[in-house]
Amino acid sequence: MYCTDCRLCETRTHIVEAYGSTNAKVILVGEAPGANEDEGGEPFIGRSGKLLMKLVKEELGLDREDLYIVNSVQCRPPKNRNPKKDELEACKKNLMANLKACNAEVIITLGKVASGNLPEYEGKKVYSTYHPAAALYKGSLVEKIREDLKSVVIN
Ligand code: URA
Repeated sequence: MYCTDCRLCETRTHIVEAYGSTNAKVILVGEAPGANEDEGGEPFIGRSGKLLMKLVKEELGLDREDLYIVNSVQCRPPKNRNPKKDELEACKKNLMANLKACNAEVIITLGKVASGNLPEYEGKKVYSTYHPAAALYKGSLVEKIREDLKSVVIN
């Protein structure tokens, strides 16, 4: 059965589950699906995702297929509002199951919602950077994301 654990089920088109290989060395944790992801059923396939993949490729040398990509909530909030606390809580079990499934050493949260929702995870280093959608509006953040990605250590 499809998840009905929070009100986001009422307005979503698709549940956007984790994407990628559970053997990935890096997990990216986003906020919530946007319109493109809700339509396509895959995380970070819209404009912000394209910017993110470009920066990850240039700074970490990794392609989309090398990553495990998850969101803090799996369903799109109406009009792309921030997920609410109870929605984040309702979806936490999915995030935790994803983190358990992929044993990557490096976790990178994108934006305030994701970093607030996952400040640490089982002793692993959780890096945080700006959300790529914010960098679409404020170009100077692109450089900040680059700097943050440069600081990531992948063994
Ligand atoms: N923004 C996110 O945080 N996640 C997506 O999947 C797309 C946009």
